[in-house]
Amino acid sequence: MDRKLVLTGEGLTDEITQKLLSALVTGLKKGKAVREYNDIEYARFRETMAGIERGTVIAKGRVVRGFPQIKRIFTLKNGLARNMDGVDTIHAEEKIDGFNVRVASINGEIFAFSRGGFLEPFVTEKAREMKLERFFRDNPFHTLCGEMIGNTPFTAPTSEFDVRLFIFDIDRGYGDYMPPAERYELLEKYGILSVPRLGTFKPDDIDGLRKLVLSLNKGKREGMVLKSADRKKAVKYVTPNADIEDIANTSRMIFDMPIGFYYQRVLRSAFFMDDFSLDREEHAKRLGKAFYEGLTGAIRLGRGGKEIDEEFEILIRDPKVWDAVRHHISRDVGVEELWKREEKDGRLRIRFRKIYKRTTKLLTSYANGKGVTD
Ligand code: ATP
Repeated sequence: MDRKLVLTGEGLTDEITQKLLSALVTGLKKGKAVREYNDIEYARFRETMAGIERGTVIAKGRVVRGFPQIKRIFTLKNGLARNMDGVDTIHAEEKIDGFNVRVASINGEIFAFSRGGFLEPFVTEKAREMKLERFFRDNPFHTLCGEMIGNTPFTAPTSEFDVRLFIFDIDRGYGDYMPPAERYELLEKYGILSVPRLGTFKPDDIDGLRKLVLSLNKGKREGMVLKSADRKKAVKYVTPNADIEDIANTSRMIFDMPIGFYYQRVLRSAFFMDDFSLDREEHAKRLGKAFYEGLTGAIRLGRGGKEIDEEFEILIRDPKVWDAVRHHISRDVGVEELWKREEKDGRLRIRFRKIYKRTTKLLTSYANGKGVTD
């Protein structure tokens, strides 16, 4: 990476520029920042260092800041009192359960990056079909932060639509997030899909927020993100139905899931259950079922020497995107193409499966009698 690199972007004060450049030099030396070559040359920060957010990207001098973590609250009343201190108005937004991407214009070309700062060829192709040019022509240094769902390499396939990208934040420069009301207006002006808005609340309107989250829970929505009107503060709060559903959907691949995934969900749902006096027996049954149905199903597959897998579907224009997706996913799991067909418009629809090798291997060996010391 050129040491005389000139950084571009809004909000890049001399101080931030210096911080970024020196973090880049140190990061590259220590392996905390890496160079990548994928369509364009760029550098990404693999972890947060010297105040630079993980996932921050520097591509052709353009800085796309990593999307920061949002604090989780486990209980509404005290969580808001503690984290929304001094806030007058809160904007409630639905928390969409997809995968986090950032879309930015780099020297006039649209690119999408994953949370970790990888250039995402799949999302890049989709974003280029979304008519975002006018937005980026008028706002060249803004970054659209969003959640993508649908027929993607990471989310459940659907026949209702192809993909959807819900924008939940706009970074106006270097981590300067646009206040929600302004963002809604701007997205509407450019016809860009926004995350669903759930209304505004006073931070002490606990009754109103309780009603809202109960209705989200009933609708099996993941939860909500609450943002102060100036967007300086934000917290996330999720629902137990979504937690239990997550467990039900993943317990069959338990050894391929990150440590902590299950602890978190059990704890979160217990807090919610207690706060809302939900029926403990009923939830205990559902939670047990979520674990046992998935696990026994997987054990049966293991006994039969079968693989634990999951199917995905994507629709792409450029066949190279599939190569890139495959290459990227293969680092964690096995990938096998099931079928590929050309659509009328020339695009390729590909169905593939991810093979959860670690879970398959362990369950098969346990089923075959392997003994382990705990
Ligand atoms: P973290 O953000 O703390 O790293 P994580 O990556 O595990 O956690 P979650 O716990 O699911 O993610 O919650 C935060 C993420 O939720 C955001 O990074 C974003 O991708 C996603 N999200 C969905 N809807 C919204 C929304 N309305 N506002 C902000 N983020 C949202």
